Amino acid sequence: MTIRFENGIVATLGQNNRVLWNGSVVTDGEQITAVGDSAKMKERFPDAEMVDCTGKLILPGFICTHHHFYSSMARGMAIPGEPASNFVEILERLWWKLDKALSAEDITLSAQVPLIECIRNGTTTVIDHHASPSMRDGSLDLIEEAVRQAGIRASLCYEVSDRNVPGGGIAENERFIKKVGKGDGQIAAMMGLHASFTVSDETVETCVGIAKDAGVGCHVHVAEDAADRKDSLAKYGVPTVERLHKLNVTGEKSIFVHCVHIDDSEMQILADTGTSVVHNPESNMNNAVGVTKLLELLRKGVLVGLGTDGMSSDMLAQMRCAYLLHRLDNRDPRVAFVEAPRLLLQNNAAICERQFSLRLGEIAQGRPADLAIIDYRPPTPLSEANFLGHLIFGLVDATVDTTVCKGKILMKNKKVLSLDEERIAARSRELAARMWQRL
Ligand SMILES: [Zn+2]
Repeated sequence: MTIRFENGIVATLGQNNRVLWNGSVVTDGEQITAVGDSAKMKERFPDAEMVDCTGKLILPGFICTHHHFYSSMARGMAIPGEPASNFVEILERLWWKLDKALSAEDITLSAQVPLIECIRNGTTTVIDHHASPSMRDGSLDLIEEAVRQAGIRASLCYEVSDRNVPGGGIAENERFIKKVGKGDGQIAAMMGLHASFTVSDETVETCVGIAKDAGVGCHVHVAEDAADRKDSLAKYGVPTVERLHKLNVTGEKSIFVHCVHIDDSEMQILADTGTSVVHNPESNMNNAVGVTKLLELLRKGVLVGLGTDGMSSDMLAQMRCAYLLHRLDNRDPRVAFVEAPRLLLQNNAAICERQFSLRLGEIAQGRPADLAIIDYRPPTPLSEANFLGHLIFGLVDATVDTTVCKGKILMKNKKVLSLDEERIAARSRELAARMWQRL
């Protein structure tokens, strides 16, 4: 089916972002077939279905390169006992209790809730990291089913750790990686690892062997807190990135999440091996773990993307948080204006190309038909030259009206079409209340 999304302002992004007033994006099935002036597109594609985008800005769908769908039932939960005073206590008192309590239906619902929020925020591709030790085997199938029903794209993995049983989760990843194979452009698979401080050398070696054989990368939390660095230095005599590099976890397909507590030589390893880093500024601030040296990583040539770490599914909010955080951290109002948007708009697409073999993140002929169409009437002139100013100070607070993924309209006029929001929220409330009791 051919659709003309017309009469909007199109920002194509990509290497040479073009801003087209009164522009039109034409999609045919899963691909974009043309971009240009609305009147001309109407002449060329007179029989296409029409979606009026007057008063809206059309962007490529957003990408989140680190998420935890399973975290959604923690919202509003009272954590028993004394408040956690550091990162490891947050894991022990909250996340490791919550993930252990998840049942099969909890996994489905706790994926559907953030999937709805992805659609509501124009996020059409997610790289997720899952944990549910009591309902481990088959858990990735449940999430896959929810993702397919929602209609977005996701790369999935299970976080292997030795904290419950040695090598827990390896078999689930191996099974799912084999099942997904080269992937269909909608679902991809990675080898998930929790973090250096919860996996033995033997566990890592097994994971890397499976990943290398299948040609997939590893998705692992790295030096999120100083405790991970301390653990690696104490047990292995080297800092976290170096330990993981020696075990062959690094590489172009691998994602090292956070990298807050790393030194210069570790940054160099990341740059030399082409390993991607994903920065999660809201999560780092929430857990009070420290500030990633983002500008240094970028200067050294490390590919750094942007994730939410389960905090939300709103990528523009993360971008703005990164922008503010690194200005303050560097005490320099000249920085991060270009860098923060680059993480979201360019680097996330580059990271996903390695996972999905798709060139996302640009509105151009032949590219995947993934769009975020946002209510936006620019109150000042808008062109390619000042697009970032509008992104950081205007679009960040604008509402997504229509979301398209693989050419399918998943939300129109702010109504989610692919999932039943009312039913899912109601059922999630019931299940969450029961799960909280089990903790
Ligand atoms: Zn995470």
